[in-house]
Amino acid sequence: MADVLHTSIEFLKGVGPNRADVLKLDLHIFTIGDLLQHFPFKYVDRSQFHKINQLNSDPVYVQVKGTLLSIEEVGKGKAKRLSAKLRDDSASIELVWFRGIPWMKKSLELGKEYIVYGKANLFGAKLSITHPEMTLYSIPAMQELKGLQPVYNSSENMKNRGLDSRGLKKLMAVLLPMVKGKIPETLNSEIIADMQFMSRDQAFQHIHQPANLEMANKAIARLKFDELFYAQLRILKIKQGRQTTYAGFIFDKVGDYFNGFYTKHLPFELTGAQKRVVKEIRKDMGSGQHMNRLLQGDVGSGKTMVALLSILIALDNGYQASIMAPTEILANQHFASFQELLAPMGVDVELLTGSIKGKKREAIFERLASGNLQVIVGTHALIEDPVVFKNIGLVVIDEQHRFGVAQRSKLWKKNTRPPHILVMTATPIPRTLAMTLYGDLDTSVIDELPPGRKAITTRHFNDGGRLRVFGFMRDQIALGRQVYMVYPLIEESEAMDYKDLMDGYESVQRVFQPPHYQISVLHGRMKSDAKDFEMQRFKSGLAQIMVATTVIEVGVNVPNASVMIIESAERFGLSQLHQLRGRVGRGAEQSYCILMTADKLSPDAKLRMRTMCETNDGFKIAEVDLKLRGPGDIEGTRQSGMMDFKIADLVQDTQVMQIARQKAMEILSDDPEIIKAENRPIAAKLTELTDPKSNWSRIS
Ligand code: ADP
Ligand code: MG
Repeated sequence: MADVLHTSIEFLKGVGPNRADVLKLDLHIFTIGDLLQHFPFKYVDRSQFHKINQLNSDPVYVQVKGTLLSIEEVGKGKAKRLSAKLRDDSASIELVWFRGIPWMKKSLELGKEYIVYGKANLFGAKLSITHPEMTLYSIPAMQELKGLQPVYNSSENMKNRGLDSRGLKKLMAVLLPMVKGKIPETLNSEIIADMQFMSRDQAFQHIHQPANLEMANKAIARLKFDELFYAQLRILKIKQGRQTTYAGFIFDKVGDYFNGFYTKHLPFELTGAQKRVVKEIRKDMGSGQHMNRLLQGDVGSGKTMVALLSILIALDNGYQASIMAPTEILANQHFASFQELLAPMGVDVELLTGSIKGKKREAIFERLASGNLQVIVGTHALIEDPVVFKNIGLVVIDEQHRFGVAQRSKLWKKNTRPPHILVMTATPIPRTLAMTLYGDLDTSVIDELPPGRKAITTRHFNDGGRLRVFGFMRDQIALGRQVYMVYPLIEESEAMDYKDLMDGYESVQRVFQPPHYQISVLHGRMKSDAKDFEMQRFKSGLAQIMVATTVIEVGVNVPNASVMIIESAERFGLSQLHQLRGRVGRGAEQSYCILMTADKLSPDAKLRMRTMCETNDGFKIAEVDLKLRGPGDIEGTRQSGMMDFKIADLVQDTQVMQIARQKAMEILSDDPEIIKAENRPIAAKLTELTDPKSNWSRIS
């Protein structure tokens, strides 16, 4: 039945081997079914004609009909162009080509009537249309322009082989009658009725050949839903599979560790959000199901305490627990704070990172295997092979965006029965993206900062403001505050960035001289004990300024530091800027973030700076980030494969995504194995999506 869809594209009338090659190469179109899914990116109304004397230079497409009066080549060398004159019954206009001159010259016919489509622009005082689309006037040509015209993307190579938007439209005209009535339905009739959808078969017809905009939009809505529905169904099935395959450890006791700490040693009252999240985690871990929870909380929202309390619950139930950090610096920091907090409880904590070697390392391995060590803090050294736990019950992963999905799954293989997992991230993820990337995890959100925090004031300066910034630093240091100065470090230009950092360090040193001022330096090329040394100088307050690359991005906690200066801020993405800013504003003092940039900025960079100056809200920043960069660029999304949408748009389609997820959940709860008769179309589509054979043509 669906065989026509799997037919190789070269067998479509009008394609042939040459065109097939470009389609494969440039658009990954291998089969008729693939071509069918090359959707128009917009529609244009070509039913209207303009009078030439009514045209103006508005940047919209216009269509005129007239007679070609003259064609001539004018200018020389680079200024060479083909100029034609077209006249209708109101006036005449110039048509201009800079490229493809010989071919155009050959194909245009003097004295004939043409339908001309393009953008009119002002050249001096004269209107002209550059590179218009030219169609020889005829009754069939007019017929073809009736209704909405789909516009397709095509590459330069495709255009050279006649596969521009119009060429593709012609192929669709061959293709659509062939597949009509043959495209299988993929939703059950209940959803179709509920959502008032057209059938999938109709949707493909109407998206390529819509009678009007309303039908086009209905077709688009249907096909977007399909994509998002199946993305959600698949991710929810992964979650379901995990829940039915693995029973979770049941942490139903809340005992001396948790209660003792909570009543006697808690250094501050938890915020409402922290309390709520701890409750969610307790409920999860006590339920007998395996916990896979994502904890989102803006920088400084107090995720560490939530981690600690969760770890105490594991201990109360007789299990070991660990927390993993993406960098040694952050692991060290967690280690120090956990040691301090847990010492009064008589709980022993150890640190495992790449720099801990020899006997010390062996001893830790032994203590983990025997169960004599209850809590371990570490880097990814923890998931490397020789580490064996006696009974690990909970793993906390901090700042997940540095931990790949692959690393997460390594954790799984260590145990026949997986520990509960709590993933913590300070990178706020817009909802749609979270539903796709982490749709298999449950989520908790800390949406409240500890009391008494003052909003960070953010200002943007260029080099002209440098002296003022130095003056401001001096004032703040005189008040007893400390200052970070951060330089970008991008892998591709590491050597240059390193030089920037060193130049910056020298110029700061000239202004802030010892012995009155001390500056510490921190960058990725330093050995870890040198890093620790510099870090310590800053933490202890001995150094007032820290000049660093983004190694400090994640997790450094020095509450007395109240000024963050970000150099070449235009080179950072929004989420990184926000992370960096989160290093200040941790104490009771008013904090500041200063963005230093070049004078000239791209519109995107300007928007990033403006957003930073206007808001401290990580979620708002994440939304702007997603809009600016698109989902493919956001850390961790590219390799996920879940972003491979042909028509859905993660930025625009939040609502559809939510409905699709809801519907997918309803299906799975009503028919967990998807075996009911009415869900047969869904089962079939799922099989097709997960069966590698259905993609055979792509592999070869
Ligand atoms: P993040 O969520 O960025 O990891 P941290 O856990 O490092 O944040 O917490 C930031 C700072 O806020 C720490 O100094 C921590 O001790 C403090 N803190 C956390 N929770 C509270 C609270 N409820 N009241 C006061 N201070 C808190
Ligand atoms: Mg943290």
